[in-house]
Amino acid sequence: MDEPNPQAVCGALLPEGDRVLWPRSVLPATNDEEGEDEAVRIAIAGAGVAGSYIFRLLKMRGHTEVDVFERKHAIACGIHPCGYGVDHHFDQLVRHAGLAPSSYVLHVPPRLLAEVEGVSAKTTVFMIDKPRLVADLLDGAPIRYETVDVDDYDLIVDATGEARAYSPPLRNDLKARVVQWRVQVQESARTAFMSTRGLPGYAWIMPLSRDGIEVHVGAGCRAGLRVPAQDLTEAVLGSLAVDRVICACGARIRLSGPDFGSIVHGHVWAAGEAAGLVGPASGAGNVYAMQSGLDLVSHLGDGDGYVKALHRHFYHLVPEARAVRTVLEGRLPTVTDLYHIRQGWKRAGVEVAWRDLPRLMLAMNRAFTGGAGWPAP
Ligand SMILES: Cc1cc2nc3c(=O)[nH]c(=O)nc-3n(C[C@H](O)[C@H](O)[C@H](O)COP(=O)(O)OP(=O)(O)OC[C@H]3O[C@@H](n4cnc5c(N)ncnc54)[C@H](O)[C@@H]3O)c2cc1C
Repeated sequence: MDEPNPQAVCGALLPEGDRVLWPRSVLPATNDEEGEDEAVRIAIAGAGVAGSYIFRLLKMRGHTEVDVFERKHAIACGIHPCGYGVDHHFDQLVRHAGLAPSSYVLHVPPRLLAEVEGVSAKTTVFMIDKPRLVADLLDGAPIRYETVDVDDYDLIVDATGEARAYSPPLRNDLKARVVQWRVQVQESARTAFMSTRGLPGYAWIMPLSRDGIEVHVGAGCRAGLRVPAQDLTEAVLGSLAVDRVICACGARIRLSGPDFGSIVHGHVWAAGEAAGLVGPASGAGNVYAMQSGLDLVSHLGDGDGYVKALHRHFYHLVPEARAVRTVLEGRLPTVTDLYHIRQGWKRAGVEVAWRDLPRLMLAMNRAFTGGAGWPAP
């Protein structure tokens, strides 16, 4: 694969050490009576995919006054949440950051096929070394483990994922609880997605090494902490001969989709999962986090432009979220809902044939209503 050229992809780069100046008209009011241009001070809250990607793009564009804030967590791999799957849009976005996409690939499904409830589906999903990607994007930047003083900055990027720590709460927020294990198995595993058994949720198997022996296993549901993690992952772990558990963690994932009226609040701009940019049907948010980062950096100083760019790229998550909410609440999905769910999977890189949809619908029924069946419309 070609080595990317950051100069070519990231627009006008300034020489090392130069400061980026914004005209005062796009900055919040200051007391500077001279009316001179000022260097932009940016705080990035959250050093996940979105935050670290934005950090890298800003650095490439010559912004020097950028501080990264994180909260402390004791997770073995160093990042939280993990989630290693990306689709074919990943390559282009990584090149935008001046990095080589191929160097992060851990596993590509053989013949580009994944199993969804026993049905073979075409896929462009592959696994990456996400902790390494985040580390490369940050490139040793100092991380501040403290609360952002919002008055100290011209722009606060809220990239705190499901926490959405610096933006107002969402009106119709919806999150699922997800647990995951990284395990070593005896026989090469295949990429697979399935419903949890006897519980309303879904589970997955994603190999993390070329030989398929190291595997990311996880499951999610809405029931929150009421359900023991073992019960959630019983279906997936039961189908694998696990030799060794490497690590495990739990997290929440936002499934409500974006609320475009709640992304920019003054000088606090949400990005990635904090902005609701996770595929509600697929749970995929890595690529979306990067795309939103690119949109944000391309529209610095223009909050409306940023929201419009997000709307252009992600408007489809709104009907997808509506459809998923219908299913999660145990209501009968319409044909339109099924269309949006299928499109959501497709956008996340998993393409289920139309002929397989009825079978998947039954599986979803089992998954989300515990087999009790959908009520009559
Ligand atoms: C178990 C699980 C598996 C997943 N699997 C996949 C997958 O295979 N493929 C995929 O595309 N997506 C997957 N996702 C979704 C994906 O991980 C997220 O959508 C994506 O990471 C969002 O990126 P982000 O940078 O917006 O947020 P995050 O990656 O969540 O990063 C947010 C960062 O903010 C930090 N933070 C939180 N609160 C604060 C605070 N108050 N101050 C400072 N920092 C704070 C967090 O520590 C974290 O580092 C998965 C999610 C989960 C939970």
